[in-house]
Amino acid sequence: MENAVSEASPIDVAAPKARRTRQARIAWGDRVVTVGGDAPVRVQSMTNTDTVDAIGTAIQVKELAQAGSEFVRITVNTPEAAQAVPYIREQLDRMGESVPLVGDFHYNGHRLLTEFPACAEALSKYRINPGNVGKGDKKDKQFGQMIEAAIRWNKAVRIGVNWGSLDQELLAQLMDANSRRARPWEARQVMYEALITSAIESAKQAEAIGLDGNQIILSCKVSGVQDLISVYRELARRCDYALHLGLTEAGMGTKGTVASATALSILLQEGIGDTIRVSLTPQPGEARTQEVVVASEILQSLGLRVFVPSVTACPGCGRTTSTTFQELAKQIDDYLRAQMPVWRARYPGVEGMKVAVMGCIVNGPGESKHADIGISLPGTGEAPAAPVFIDGEKAMTLRGERIAQEFHEIVENYVERRYGGR
Ligand code: SF4
Repeated sequence: MENAVSEASPIDVAAPKARRTRQARIAWGDRVVTVGGDAPVRVQSMTNTDTVDAIGTAIQVKELAQAGSEFVRITVNTPEAAQAVPYIREQLDRMGESVPLVGDFHYNGHRLLTEFPACAEALSKYRINPGNVGKGDKKDKQFGQMIEAAIRWNKAVRIGVNWGSLDQELLAQLMDANSRRARPWEARQVMYEALITSAIESAKQAEAIGLDGNQIILSCKVSGVQDLISVYRELARRCDYALHLGLTEAGMGTKGTVASATALSILLQEGIGDTIRVSLTPQPGEARTQEVVVASEILQSLGLRVFVPSVTACPGCGRTTSTTFQELAKQIDDYLRAQMPVWRARYPGVEGMKVAVMGCIVNGPGESKHADIGISLPGTGEAPAAPVFIDGEKAMTLRGERIAQEFHEIVENYVERRYGGR
């Protein structure tokens, strides 16, 4: 057979599905962050400082923004916290940081947003939890006061339902109705229904009061991966509001990171989720910005966004008995991340750069050639030389004690040469 060409269909290229939602605008000054519609999936985060400490909170907001958070939520839980909000905003503006602030309200948001207009004005979005805006006949009134503040100040709103603070009256009603079914649903299915009903009915109520439906973002957070997938699939099917996606109380370290990545990736691949937050409990000494790093990595891994140059590093094996390549991979990764706040403005496109740091000759040269710039370090028993590949071509070979520093300089020069003149 000569030059036979298979007639089989090509293999599908996997990609996240597109889901078109309404688009909200979260604005401060000239900065407008759109959420939903054709906007990219946004990264957001939340501070863990005492909001009353305006300087400490402003510093953490700036750190989160510089790490890539596109808006940052702060707790507004007391009159003192509400009074601090305009000062936090002012500090950020003075530092040249225009990232929009989101106020997180529970129980007393109706009072704080009414009695502290400067707070209501300084925030760009309000998070309202319909499960704790008030009980009985106070509920509608207090919810209405918060929505009226959003209308008055032209702010976006997230109606954020959480299974830990679900509207108990609604849940009781749905449980009652379920007990009358010929075949009652499982308790968790009733809980899913209560979460979704609470979110969508609250959104409709806000629209009836006069809030533009485009300015409403919904969330229904739970802490189990399969529960989150079940709830968001149905939420996405029932409405076209922009959706805030996150696994609540994801936990610490590897467990929190993996659980969030697992749940969010499955839903994002289905086109569900317009903004994400990774709710990690920081480990002692760990920076709050880790949640932004993880959220960005989830989006970058799925090919939805590009935030930082990627470093491809092999895992190492019996061929690498020294830790040199691990150290170099980490140094380069840390270095690239640390440069990004400056590089983003100075070197447009640099976030798409690919760097490879490989441990031996088996895959090292091949992987390095696929990267924009790569180094293949010597494995055990190989000659003590490290070929460097630039744009797919072998450019030089490094030797001796200064391989790490020299590679660092080569990357810097490459970035300046390739991205500097744009
Ligand atoms: S590139 Fe070499 S050192 Fe790295 S995992 Fe593969 S065989 Fe091992």
